[in-house]
Order: sequence, then C-alpha cells, then structure tokens
Amino acid sequence: MTEQLIETAIENARATYAIVASSLPKPLEKKEAELFDWYARLKGNPLTKLRALFEFMTTLYGTVARYTPCKKGCTSCCHYPVSITDLEIEFIERGAGIKRAKQIRKATHPYDAPCPFLRNDSCSIYAHRPFVCRKHVTLTKTMHWCHPDRANTKEFPLLNFSEVNRVFDALVRETGATAFCDIREAFPSEENK
Ligand code: SF4
Repeated sequence: MTEQLIETAIENARATYAIVASSLPKPLEKKEAELFDWYARLKGNPLTKLRALFEFMTTLYGTVARYTPCKKGCTSCCHYPVSITDLEIEFIERGAGIKRAKQIRKATHPYDAPCPFLRNDSCSIYAHRPFVCRKHVTLTKTMHWCHPDRANTKEFPLLNFSEVNRVFDALVRETGATAFCDIREAFPSEENK
C-alpha cells in the first residue's frame, strides 16, 4: 500500500512500533529497564559514560534495523535541527579530531543548510555522531515522509526508549553544561564561518 497517504504511513508506523516493542530481545529489554541503575554504577568521567551509553544504544537500535527503511545514503534527517550538548561536542572533538568553533554564535537560520558532517550522502563522523542522530529511527515503510518539507506535517510514532533518554539527561546534568546548540553552530561549515 502506498505511503503517499499520510494516514497509511502513520498506520504503518504504529504497526511497526508494536512489532518492535514485542520483538525486543528480553535481555536487552531488561537492561534498558534497569539502565538508570547501570548508569549509577558506572565509573569514569562523563565522556567515558557517554561512550558506554552509545555502545548500548548501538546494540539496542541494531535490533530495530530490519524494521526501518533508514539506511546509508538516506540523508533527510541530516537536514533537520540537530541539538547537541557540550559533552557531545567534546566527544566529536576527541573522537573525530575536529575542533569546535572558537565562539559558538546563535545562527539566524541554522537549518537552511544540511549538517556540516554530511559528506557524499553519508555521515563523516558516524562513530561519533550525537545522541539525537542515534535515536532517530523511522518506522514507516518508506522514507517518503522523512523529507524535510514533509516531516513535520503530522506527528509520526517514533521509538522512545525512556530509560535511554533518562540516562542521557542525567549524564548531561552531571557535566553541569546543560545548554544545547545546533550542530551547525558548534561546527559551522566553511561558508558559514
Ligand atoms: S552528525 Fe551525521 S547523522 Fe547526524 S545529522 Fe550530521 S551527518 Fe547526519
């Protein structure tokens, strides 16, 4: 059935959501449910803890891969706003060896351009991409409604692992730097510097 009709796309996303929720491997479901206790026991600095959280997210979201049309080469969500914290900026700086802007200025229209790390239709910092990029998974059958011109037409069901979000929020609070900016402001492309 075509997904040009938004009602069909939303219905498909709801159905996929239900399948994903019921097919999550039990050990992963248990770990996600207990993730805050796991986080409370973690040793190390916030960067080390962020790495551990992202490793878990890779495993968790890896189980969803077969239910989503998200794949390399689809870049729609790299044209959306990409909120990023100071901790993630540091994660990119250290992991990908790219320095943040000397001064992070609020851009007037930050979303006119794609993410500066999008190169040849693929993420050039994939292993070090921010939290929002890791958790954005489309549950429709096609990418039709992911297009930036259509994505906000209606609210689509999205995966929401509540304890993953809770741990990330706590980790950001732990750093004391809770402000967000857009990735384009922290790492402006050459033409936007
Ligand atoms: S960091 Fe990578 S995945 Fe995230 S928006 Fe930028 S190019 Fe896309």
